[in-house]
Amino acid sequence: MPDTALVRRARKVDRVLGETYPDAKCELDFDDPFQLLVVTVLSAQTTDKRVNKVRPVLFGAYPTPAAMAEADRAKLEEIVGPLGFFRAKTESLLKLSAALVERYDGEVPGRLDDLVTLPGVGRKTANVVLGNAFDVPGITVDTHFGRLVRRFGWTDETDPVKVEHAVGALFPKRDWTMLSHHVIWHGRRICHARKPACGACPVARWCPAYGEGPTDAAEAAKLVRAEGRA
Ligand code: SF4
Repeated sequence: MPDTALVRRARKVDRVLGETYPDAKCELDFDDPFQLLVVTVLSAQTTDKRVNKVRPVLFGAYPTPAAMAEADRAKLEEIVGPLGFFRAKTESLLKLSAALVERYDGEVPGRLDDLVTLPGVGRKTANVVLGNAFDVPGITVDTHFGRLVRRFGWTDETDPVKVEHAVGALFPKRDWTMLSHHVIWHGRRICHARKPACGACPVARWCPAYGEGPTDAAEAAKLVRAEGRA
C-alpha cells in the first residue's frame, strides 16, 4: 500500500493540474473507436496536430476496418505520407484493420486483453482507446507521463507497466483517464523533458524536482508553450 502522505500529495497535484487545464482531453480528433485506434497508432513519432490534419482524408476514403483492410497500398501510403514512416504506418493500418475484420467482425474490442493482441497495438494505445472511446478507466504511460510521475516522486519505476500499476495505486480508478490527460498536458506545456518551466509551474510546491529547470519567473514564462506540442 502506498503511504498516505504520498497519496494525498499526488491527489493534490492532480486537482491543481485539473484546475490549470480544465479542457484537458485526448488531443487526437476521432468520431468512433476505430478512428481513435487508428489515429493513436499513427501518432507514433509525429504530432497529434499532423495526425488530425490527415484524419478527414483518411476516414473519408476508408471509414471502416473493412474498407481500410481492402485499401490500395499506394493510395494509403500517399495519405499517411505527411506523417513520416509511411511504409511502416501503412503496413500497420492494413494489418490492424484486417485483424479487426477477421477476429472481431470489424468492431474494435472494448477490453485491454483483446486490444493488445491486435497488430501494432501496445498497452499505451489500448489504454488511450479504452479511456477515451469506451469510458473504461486507463492510465496512459507515454514519455511525458513517465517523466513527470518520476519528477513528482510518485514512483521510481521506469518500466511503463510498473509505472501504470504504481501510479494507479495512488488514485481511484475513475480518475485514471483524466489524470493521464492532466499529466500529459502539463508535460507538453510546462514540464518539458529539457528545461522544465519550474518558475511558472502551478504544482511546484509539491514537486521534489523543483529547480530542474529555471525557477526565475520571467525565464520560465518564456519556456511555457500555450499549445502543447505532442
Ligand atoms: S516544478 Fe519543475 S520539474 Fe516539477 S512539475 Fe513543475 S515544471 Fe516539472
